[in-house]
Amino acid sequence: MFETLQDRLGSILNGLTGRGALSEADVSAALREVRRALLEADVALEVVRSFTDAVREKAVGAEILKSIKPGQMVVKLVHDELVSMLGSEGVSIDLNAAAPVVIMMVGLQGSGKTTTSGKIANRLKTRDKKKVLMASLDTRRPAAQEQLRQLGVQTGIDTLPIIAGQSPTDIAARAVQAAKLGGHDVVILDTAGRTHIDEPLMIEMAEIKRKSNPHEILLVADALTGQDAVNLARNFDDRVGITGLVLTRMDGDGRGGAALSMRAVTGKPIKLIGVGEKMGELEEFHPRRVADRILGMGDIVSLVEKAAENIDAEKAAAMAAKMAKGKFDLNDLADQLGQMQKMGGMGGIMGLMPGMAGMKDKMSAAGLDDKLFARQIAIINSMTRAERANPDLLKHSRKKRIAAGSGTDASDINKLLKMHRQMADMMKMMGGKKGGMMKQMMGG
Ligand code: GDP
Ligand code: MG
Repeated sequence: MFETLQDRLGSILNGLTGRGALSEADVSAALREVRRALLEADVALEVVRSFTDAVREKAVGAEILKSIKPGQMVVKLVHDELVSMLGSEGVSIDLNAAAPVVIMMVGLQGSGKTTTSGKIANRLKTRDKKKVLMASLDTRRPAAQEQLRQLGVQTGIDTLPIIAGQSPTDIAARAVQAAKLGGHDVVILDTAGRTHIDEPLMIEMAEIKRKSNPHEILLVADALTGQDAVNLARNFDDRVGITGLVLTRMDGDGRGGAALSMRAVTGKPIKLIGVGEKMGELEEFHPRRVADRILGMGDIVSLVEKAAENIDAEKAAAMAAKMAKGKFDLNDLADQLGQMQKMGGMGGIMGLMPGMAGMKDKMSAAGLDDKLFARQIAIINSMTRAERANPDLLKHSRKKRIAAGSGTDASDINKLLKMHRQMADMMKMMGGKKGGMMKQMMGG
């Protein structure tokens, strides 16, 4: 695992509590760590510089929200700036032009152009009910045209018949012609790449563009591209003029810093991301998720936001201390249920914590959802102090009494006890990690 930015900032900034605003020194110390985190996430150096400058300007003098720490505040500012630089979500492929709309796919060899051509065609066909024609302009690699043809067969999408000996520009012109005759709404031109950017590639792309007048030119790039991402994006944009980006291999374990680099130097939207080799594995771009990934954390930012609104910091700190020790009785559960209701219920809180999404599913599979909160609190209220502190006391006769007192039945009580056990285990686990992740998040 990567060391998260939260961990790093924690060690340098969390000592600084009880101040009203972020000082220049606080921010500088934090930004050194931010810079390291971004470089490790493969964000290009020049982008890191302009990014940290932008954050510095906003952060110095910013008010620290009550109940969170300066480190958390900086993380939030960094995160917000990252989201804003990554751009808006849901910028889809623009088909607003006379048919056939030409989409030209460009990028280096192996970046995923052919696969992404198939994925986009498949999406336009199934979601937008468009009639699509795909054409491979890759005359450099012998099997390239056949690869696209097979994707067409697999997805039921037309491909331009292969004619040996034609140049890429001739194929482009033939594809547009064939689409007009065939009544296709969209033509996808899958071009050839090179292992690196060179002059012949740029000339070829410019010629294809001139011949086919594409409405969209999508640069397909591997999300694992490192410092080269800036050169790559700048070159394609300057020489060919791109309209958007598609990042592939977002299913890999990279941190996706290339997204920020390429977006920053071109200003062009990231339209889609590839998350696997299969035709269905294409998704919308969500800047928040990518920002989380670049910073190496779950959605701590939202948690900070909600915590700032709802949680009584002192109570949370006491709770966190108990959790860290693995002591979590039914009194605590009752408190916790009340706070969870305030924070948007079980789904609200679980969904925000790294790795806790699965726990939420497990809990709701066990019939534990928000609707039960009120009833569960009633059950706990019907227990004696001793029972709340030590749930092991709850044998059959006691359960009967509690059920009668709370207007529930024994199975409701068993469910509650099961949930308590699961939560206690989970808290113990979280409390044990790195000196109490929960403690840090809750400002304890
Ligand atoms: P091209 O040379 O740019 O046309 O690249 P290809 O489309 O032939 O893709 C190269 C390799 O990357 C193939 O093995 C693809 O299956 C794989 N690939 C493409 N997109 C993705 C993706 O989003 N995730 C993963 N894991 N593999 C991908
Ligand atoms: Mg290809």
